[in-house]
Amino acid sequence: MTTDRLRCYRCGASGDRSSRSRCPCGEPRWFDTDGGYDPADPPDDHGVWRYRDLLPVDEPQGLAVAAGGTPLVRTAGLDAFAGCRTWVKDEAEHPTGSFKDRGSAVGVADALERGVSTVGTVSHGNMAMSVAAHAAAVDLDCVVLVPADIPSERLAIIDRYDPTILRIDGDYGRLYAESLRIGDSLDIAFLNSDVPTRVAGQKTTMLELLDAWRPSAPDAVVMPVSSGGHASGAWKAIRDLRDGGALPGTPKLCFVQAAACAPVATAFEADAETVTPVEPGETIAYSIANADPPSGTRALAAAQATDGAVVSVDDDEIRAARRRFARDAGFAVETASATTLAGARRLAADGVVGPDDRIVLVATGSGLKESAEASAPDPAAVALDELAGTLATRFE
Ligand SMILES: *Cc1c(COP(=O)(O)O)cnc(C)c1O
Ligand SMILES: [Zn+2]
Repeated sequence: MTTDRLRCYRCGASGDRSSRSRCPCGEPRWFDTDGGYDPADPPDDHGVWRYRDLLPVDEPQGLAVAAGGTPLVRTAGLDAFAGCRTWVKDEAEHPTGSFKDRGSAVGVADALERGVSTVGTVSHGNMAMSVAAHAAAVDLDCVVLVPADIPSERLAIIDRYDPTILRIDGDYGRLYAESLRIGDSLDIAFLNSDVPTRVAGQKTTMLELLDAWRPSAPDAVVMPVSSGGHASGAWKAIRDLRDGGALPGTPKLCFVQAAACAPVATAFEADAETVTPVEPGETIAYSIANADPPSGTRALAAAQATDGAVVSVDDDEIRAARRRFARDAGFAVETASATTLAGARRLAADGVVGPDDRIVLVATGSGLKESAEASAPDPAAVALDELAGTLATRFE
């Protein structure tokens, strides 16, 4: 079980659970853990709740039961392109198609335990769907704040879960902190991208893949990074296991960003200690375009502390990797998730990982929701009467 204390990863200052704000040093906090998880004798529970000894809440409710427990599969077909030996952690298997369900499950369980009646989030994609789905499953009200220019097909899929959706005019970047402030005064639990309960839930991605590898550990884990919330969870998982004497080895944490919006990669390349905001450009990997990531510096620290790296890849590299994922391994990954394969290729070329190294690509989300965004082909039209003849000439 975790304690009720929140602690700053950087300066170590603690705060109680009700103080939802950041540490006075400016950095985000995460839950203190007492380290009780025993991999040889895990609780008899499903998905993320198997790690309830390391989570701040332990009551699975409704849909929350379905979070976690995703497969880890060997993908030999991707090795040649990546330049190392690859495995995929398939987060698309979640009810709403992304790893965000891990954090939403824990966040919603925590909101219920605290008697909060409304949850919310700031998101234009996966997190919006995920929070709305988990709220609906336990009859909590839900408010989703989306940017004014959100594509209508994404609105439609969020709307399926019946949240109150508000389009926000103004600086969407400022909304992150502003929503937490408003939430505090109105008692709405905003489950934004790096709040402590979400980070606690999202550390289970790493806990699961390390358990799957025991007794050894993979050489590196590659994840796309936007806010840095998932990356923070991965690092916290390693620290929890180390503190509890149950860490089988430390994989290099390697993060990937889209070149058009790469504040964490830029800071890593400059060997900086903190991430500074960038001017955002357009990228097809819209789920990871965050010019001012709230846990960017924490993600940077995670890569540095584990001997990992942060790289950026351009849209052409992401398109090529998206196609390789599909053609060579059968995965229709979300565009943001395709960055992991492009990133692995870059890491291998740079010598951060070697050809025999075992690398886990965290495929964070499903591409099956993305049809309108992906570049559509223009297939040849064939009359039914001519089909046999056409196939005969093409394939005989
Ligand atoms: C949210 C998201 C990310 C980035 O996660 P952060 O915790 O914000 O860094 C990556 N891929 C997909 C598919 C996502 O939905
Ligand atoms: Zn601090």
